[in-house]
Amino acid sequence: MKQYDYLIVGCGLFGSVVAEQMTKKGKSCLVIDKRGHIGGNVYTNTVNGITVHQYGAHIFHTNDKRVWKYINSFAEFNRYTNSPIANYKGKLYNLPFNMNTFYQMWGAITQEDVRKIIELQKKMANIEEPSNLEEQAISLVGKDIYETLIKGYTEKQWGRKATELPPSIIKRIPVRFVFDNNYFNDNYQGIPIGGYTPIIERMLIDCDVMLNTDYFKKKDCFDNMAARIIYTGEIDRYFNYCYGRLEYRSLKFDTTLLNGVENYQGNAVVNYTDAEVPYTRIIEHKHFEFGNQRDTVITIEYPQSFAKGGEPYYPVNDEHNNTLYEKYRMLAQQEERVDFGGRLAEYKYYNMDEVVQRALDFSHKFI
Ligand code: FAD
Repeated sequence: MKQYDYLIVGCGLFGSVVAEQMTKKGKSCLVIDKRGHIGGNVYTNTVNGITVHQYGAHIFHTNDKRVWKYINSFAEFNRYTNSPIANYKGKLYNLPFNMNTFYQMWGAITQEDVRKIIELQKKMANIEEPSNLEEQAISLVGKDIYETLIKGYTEKQWGRKATELPPSIIKRIPVRFVFDNNYFNDNYQGIPIGGYTPIIERMLIDCDVMLNTDYFKKKDCFDNMAARIIYTGEIDRYFNYCYGRLEYRSLKFDTTLLNGVENYQGNAVVNYTDAEVPYTRIIEHKHFEFGNQRDTVITIEYPQSFAKGGEPYYPVNDEHNNTLYEKYRMLAQQEERVDFGGRLAEYKYYNMDEVVQRALDFSHKFI
């Protein structure tokens, strides 16, 4: 049986960056994944020349120069700027909340007008100590923005009424008094031309990779193949759910190739903020790369409970789950040969740049 310095469980972004760093320093790595492809949730494939983000829109954005330089060493990035549109009962609004949105909502054209309207609505709500997400949102931006652009989307996303969600989910709501639809404030932003899968391929070039391979089906065998193990799967699964299951929110992606349709919605991301519409977003993939193909591919995103199946996408970081995670983390610390990293093993929503940052820092501890 071939022996390796590292067994990496999961070839998502975290596992792949670690594998790349380790092999660059001459360490041998075996990377396994239970899915049939590399890249985890950043996986992209190509349909009729269009790069499709298989697991939802993935826009790379960061303020960290080191991370930007690192990721750009594997691909050329375009100048894509995320400017989603919200559709509420057929009326369109720009996101994030900025002067364009306020003009569309109230016809307000000066920031003084907007400030006055928001202040008045906050005052009328008369909420001193918000006890749930609804009260928190209204106390931050007033009733109109909350009801049109936040309520329906949030309730679909979390599968609960906004009055049953903790106020802590929304700490602040960025409101811009300029005409700027750029969703992110980061210095660097873009989409890798040709998608994320080629990036991951380049990262894994000097590793052995086994797909369709669930670590737990042959754990003893894999444990004997490497000196150290880096585990990026669900932490509760690793410990056989001994304290109970961590909760996640999942999504169902309904992807369709529209033959002969050049342009379906004119934007990569359209959010549906009305509670009556069962989905939260429609993604039109070609717009991430300014494509001019004859066809288009769209994905409709339906939030769903993880318990009903699907992948564990969003950790539900409420008090109960965070306490549970803490217990698993204590167990993880006692594992001598195993390290835990990435969004599933750390039970935390990370953007891609944070994952890269953490994987680079993690690798440097060993090499
Ligand atoms: P994962 O990609 O989940 O990788 C973990 C891998 O481990 C998986 O491939 C899994 O199959 C494998 N695995 C688990 N258990 C086992 C096992 N027992 N045996 C073998 N393999 C196993 N970030 C951004 O910066 N910008 C965005 O626009 C953005 N959009 C997003 C949209 C959605 C819908 C979601 C869900 C996330 C988005 N993210 C975005 C976050 C981004 O997807 C993550 O930061 C990144 O994918 C996390 O990488 P990871 O390696 O930690 O996890």
